[in-house]
Amino acid sequence: MKVVVIIPAAGLGTRMVGAPPPGRSAAASKLPSPSKQFTELNGIPIIIHTLRKFTAEPQVQEIYVALRKAEIESFRSRLAKDAPDLSKQRLNLVEGGEHRQQSVASAIAHVQAAEDDIVLVHDAVRPFVDQEVIENVIQASVRYGAAIAGLPAVDTVKQVERTAEGAIIVSTIPRERVVLAQTPQGFRFDVLKKAFDEAAADGFMGTDEASLVERSGHEVAVVMGSARNIKITTPADLELAEFYLQQQTRQRAAG
Ligand code: C5P
Repeated sequence: MKVVVIIPAAGLGTRMVGAPPPGRSAAASKLPSPSKQFTELNGIPIIIHTLRKFTAEPQVQEIYVALRKAEIESFRSRLAKDAPDLSKQRLNLVEGGEHRQQSVASAIAHVQAAEDDIVLVHDAVRPFVDQEVIENVIQASVRYGAAIAGLPAVDTVKQVERTAEGAIIVSTIPRERVVLAQTPQGFRFDVLKKAFDEAAADGFMGTDEASLVERSGHEVAVVMGSARNIKITTPADLELAEFYLQQQTRQRAAG
């Protein structure tokens, strides 16, 4: 059994401002909203921090990164500069799509795997995933065919109806029945492929891979995620990310 990782990284990052796309200086860039996965943390793009978490995992044999077409070559150069050890290693850069689901589908189309091989999908913008979470998701996806990292909800969860004036609460969802889905999300290759084929045939679009697998009738297990496994989405998340990175660097130096 092999483990393949897909990293969707073709988002436009419309909620993030302040970083140039790979290979371009801020001054030279005329693009209004650079992609958040290329925002630098400690001088290195977030996506490279994320990739290192998976290249450090001995069970992972291949990694597919889905990028916007215009960013593939500049990212290749950036890899050669910032992470020459990664640029040739098990790493495939493929073209993503308009939506996250299409980016993942495009990577799946490149994957050569047996039915019982495991495919992990992980957001490019979650660089603080830890080894334990990755390994637990792999283990649970071998066992159940499909498994994701999730966090219990600590806040009270409300279902709302959106109105022109704002939101009105419709009901309160018991929080013990809720988990917040993170990535990695792991699947047997045949389970993932079937779910994606069915979603494409039905024109269904989901915001994560598990939602496609759920609708294809396969149960998806949840393993404990981590509060640090944040999805860097807005500039405010970057401050927290810088703090976590300093801690991570200190822990490595001590350990
Ligand atoms: O859009 P969202 O914030 O959910 O993005 C989650 C991940 O999906 C990011 O890593 C982003 O780059 C990726 N994505 C993608 N292709 C798109 C849109 C998002 O690979 N068209």
